[in-house]
Amino acid sequence: MTPTGRESEKSDEVLIALDNLSKKWPIDPIVRDVHLGLRSDIQDYLLKLNQVTYHIPYLSETADFVVWNCLWPDCHNCCEKQGRLPLTSKDLSVISKDLGYPNRTSFLRKETYIATWESTAAATTHEPQLITTLTMINLKRTQTEGEADNGRQIACRFLDKNGSCSINSSKPGVCSLYPFFSWSQNENNRLSVHASYQLTGDCPGFYLTKTLDDYIPILKNYSEIIYNYTMNVNTTLRESFARIDIT
Ligand code: SF4
Ligand code: SF4
Repeated sequence: MTPTGRESEKSDEVLIALDNLSKKWPIDPIVRDVHLGLRSDIQDYLLKLNQVTYHIPYLSETADFVVWNCLWPDCHNCCEKQGRLPLTSKDLSVISKDLGYPNRTSFLRKETYIATWESTAAATTHEPQLITTLTMINLKRTQTEGEADNGRQIACRFLDKNGSCSINSSKPGVCSLYPFFSWSQNENNRLSVHASYQLTGDCPGFYLTKTLDDYIPILKNYSEIIYNYTMNVNTTLRESFARIDIT
């Protein structure tokens, strides 16, 4: 299948990101191909752990799972290169308080801007391709950040010189979520939370493994973060602090 203009633009961005990443980190050639959508043997392995269904890429030709481990403190690439920091309504309350604002209104005026963007989840054996258009309030990563910087990779001003987040206890939920992304869907009249990887070429923590035994405890720990974040996004939508359209 020939890629559409948008898909080809996206894979060009991933290629550039991977080339930059490779200057500092060894990237397994197979993992690189997974990021670039060049593997034809990727299966969607579903694993439900503590209320979250994970979609783990499984390579049927080599019998490998693609798994992840965070390399912090040696790596802080996500804080140097996040394209935006969308906030849930809970983030708004917690961060405005942490930064010393007397109320949410003054925090919103000084520290945030509203951005709209698209995110695409590839089709799987279970789900069709999803294109999601999101409009959310974003935390400024520089004092002057605005709509023109939407999606542009900028080093976050809260990343300190030791590679730590200076607002770690109140950092946006999306920072804790990375490199996963999550969504909720109705299954038999019950809300079900799903998560998969953001394969943008910006995280060096992905690697291959034959078994998920060592990975399952890590995912179990992440389930609470992912579930709570997804519920917070749903609350943010109900409170009209954000808008999501799915096609
Ligand atoms: S880019 Fe990936 S490995 Fe590096 S700090 Fe972020 S999540 Fe961890
Ligand atoms: S708020 Fe903190 S965790 Fe999030 S991108 Fe900025 S430095 Fe990183």
